[in-house]
Amino acid sequence: MSETFIGSDFNELQASDPEIADVLVNELSRLRNGLQLIASENFTSPSVLTALGSTLSNKYAEGYPGKRYYGGCEVVDVAETLGIERAKKLFDADHANLQPHSGASANIAVFGAFLNPGDTFLAMALPHGGHLTHGASVSYSSKWFNPVHYGVAEGSEDIDYDQLRALAREHKPKLILAGGSAIPRLIDFKAIREICDEVGAIMHVDAAHFIGLVAGKAIPSPVPYADVVSFTTHKVLRGPRSGMILSKAEHAATIDKAVFPMMQGGPMMHVIAAKAVALKECMTPEYQAYAKNVIENAQVLTSELVGHGLRAVTGGTDTHLALLDLQGIGVTGKEAEARSGASGIVLNKNSIPYDPAPPSVSSGIRIGTPSVTTQGMGTEEMKQVASFIARAINTDSASEHAAVKEEVNALVSKFPAYPRP
Ligand SMILES: *Cc1c(COP(=O)(O)O)cnc(C)c1O
Repeated sequence: MSETFIGSDFNELQASDPEIADVLVNELSRLRNGLQLIASENFTSPSVLTALGSTLSNKYAEGYPGKRYYGGCEVVDVAETLGIERAKKLFDADHANLQPHSGASANIAVFGAFLNPGDTFLAMALPHGGHLTHGASVSYSSKWFNPVHYGVAEGSEDIDYDQLRALAREHKPKLILAGGSAIPRLIDFKAIREICDEVGAIMHVDAAHFIGLVAGKAIPSPVPYADVVSFTTHKVLRGPRSGMILSKAEHAATIDKAVFPMMQGGPMMHVIAAKAVALKECMTPEYQAYAKNVIENAQVLTSELVGHGLRAVTGGTDTHLALLDLQGIGVTGKEAEARSGASGIVLNKNSIPYDPAPPSVSSGIRIGTPSVTTQGMGTEEMKQVASFIARAINTDSASEHAAVKEEVNALVSKFPAYPRP
């Protein structure tokens, strides 16, 4: 086949809408000029972007492959079926639903599948590393359901499984949720499965952050233990901005009905095709090596930062992200984020467990290595990155920030994001 028009035509956009065309160019330039250390971001492949920018965006396909409410779905059915088969194979899962629009949408569907309004569920507290959708006061998940939160133990800063078990026995939740957005350590899925079995709860793992490491066979999988695993596809997994749900066969019909028609309308077929592309990429030896390098880079970056006087929450990391406590150097998370930004380093302030500062200030930063590893950086570069961060956050001096920024740009120019062909 030699079709060249797919839908994405930058020249056309430049002619018809130069303002938005500029935004696209400027964002690419921002990605290329600086260090992207946001733990939830990555650089997806040009093939994924091609699927996203295709005419599949036009198609209404309410329902599932072979059982649609609209005609003309026979072509897009191929993409969704391929994606489902790839997900089941990659994760060794009984069932996969590729239709959730995002991680938050996937979680709404899981709640819709298993909970009625007012039902109790157990989840990790947001200030200890959980997620807004896990029952935070500003989220529907606390307005419509009754969340009870477990956290990390004060000494180890790792999940307090004794507290989790005690809360489960006391509150008899219908569902127990594991996972979060700032958990540097591996989760003991077997222990949580045992607690779920003891109290008769559904085990839901929100693997948004770490599922890409599971896909790369770099860390253990929650799939053998959990009733249902929800996740985003755009973090370490390196797919399009979207969500996905895996489940045991017994929950397949319940999950599918909860995604559509309970919570969503028509699926985004261009995004589903892009998810299928990403899943195929995850099956390659290159991606498996990538996932291991992401962790190695995170570990080196973290230990180097500890060498510069920061404290690693839990003492380190087993994953792609780390939380660094800045109290020892007398800098707030808010200051560190701004100073890093001024030096060409994009990272985020983050509450640490038992943080004395409010979330808008916070005592820590969160760093992640998915993007820099996609750029091809390794442990030698992580040592440089750590010294850049340390220099940036320890000073208020605009000239020092400019000096660091120059060195940052010298480094990233050797490892360009989206290298020009
Ligand atoms: C990122 C994340 C989400 C939300 O994903 P969106 O795609 O932004 O809706 C949900 N849960 C966890 C644990 C996350 O880290």
